Amino acid sequence: MNASELKKAVADDRDEMVQSLCDMLRIVAVGPESKGPGEAERGKYLVALAKRLGFKSIEVFESHDPSVPTGRRPNVIVRLDGVGKKRLWVISHMDTVPEGDADAWKNPPFEPKVVSGKIYGRGAEDNGQELIASLYGLRALLRCGIAPEFNVGLVFVADEEHGNTHGIDFLISKGLFRKGDLVVVPDHGDPDGSAIEVVEKSLAWVKVEVIGKQTHASTPAHGINAFEVAARYMIAVVDRLRSKYKATDELFDPPVSTFAPTSCEANGLNVNTIPGRQVFSFDFRVLPRHKIRVIMADMRAIADGLEKKTGAKIKLSYIQKAVAAPKTSVDSEVVVRLSAAIMAVKGVKPRPVGIGGGTCAAPFRRMGIDAAVWSTAPGNAHDANEYARIRDPVSDAQVYAVLFAGKNLGRV
Ligand SMILES: [Zn+2]
Repeated sequence: MNASELKKAVADDRDEMVQSLCDMLRIVAVGPESKGPGEAERGKYLVALAKRLGFKSIEVFESHDPSVPTGRRPNVIVRLDGVGKKRLWVISHMDTVPEGDADAWKNPPFEPKVVSGKIYGRGAEDNGQELIASLYGLRALLRCGIAPEFNVGLVFVADEEHGNTHGIDFLISKGLFRKGDLVVVPDHGDPDGSAIEVVEKSLAWVKVEVIGKQTHASTPAHGINAFEVAARYMIAVVDRLRSKYKATDELFDPPVSTFAPTSCEANGLNVNTIPGRQVFSFDFRVLPRHKIRVIMADMRAIADGLEKKTGAKIKLSYIQKAVAAPKTSVDSEVVVRLSAAIMAVKGVKPRPVGIGGGTCAAPFRRMGIDAAVWSTAPGNAHDANEYARIRDPVSDAQVYAVLFAGKNLGRV
């Protein structure tokens, strides 16, 4: 069997892939931090699907989490052993973010709908299309009777959208991965499938709590308006950080560090009360050359100045902090192999990129394991009306199939 016959075997599964993706997206897998049920039901569905597709080695690793109804967060691993000793992992995630503003969706977010070559639904792109693509890519080898060159493990993790504690970090703590493994994380991509992400920015999510003094809105001088102090602080911080940390690196998209105010807790007050407490947060994605703790010191200094001026208290804390992991070399085996498979299937020339998002590649890179982040995707993760273009998971499944088969392609 050659590459084009294997590609055809994948393409023959197109309709089944669409069906499986839609069935999976219908099962809500939002994490408990967003008041969701976790991944238990979706995990069960995937175990049943893998069985139905003929896989024999399916394992579930459950992390204990009392904040979900089942008390467990599943991680599913589907394996197909190859002829060599080398191991190749594809790590995708089962969980999704919530729908966000429900009114912004044209169709209900958890009732996937196929419209002119696209599947609409929460999690269609992030990360459903690639999870399903990796499964059907490996299934093509099973069906065609090709042994993979590698011992392939498809890993469907929980908890990727909120810190990885019950997902990839849990699996790493079980000692499943070791140096010399090849890791593909299909959780970022560009529309033509040419971008291979080899480095990520540092990340800091910072919570800001402003304590003032509540009073009647007609006599603001009797209190300290926490909302107003929060607003002044927010603007002072972004102005200062954006002007101080403005270095660029064209490997990254966007090429600059980003400093964004994001969530804001409702203070729940009536219109004629001066708020005594206001909480909001920042999301920072910082080029690896800048130090998070230096940025935090700048934020503290601005807070100290505003505290003196206003009498308010400003407390800062990390919701999450991740210092940029080492870069995966463009000459590493996983990048070279993946590039060859992309070129063979898609005919595009792969190029290395850096991103601001954090993926499951970071913990591997910290362990000295080379990880390549890649997929073909329109780039609407977390948006309202998120969709996957059907052609992307199909052609990405072909890339996986060619990558998994490696040297064994042509020997059958
Ligand atoms: Zn994702």
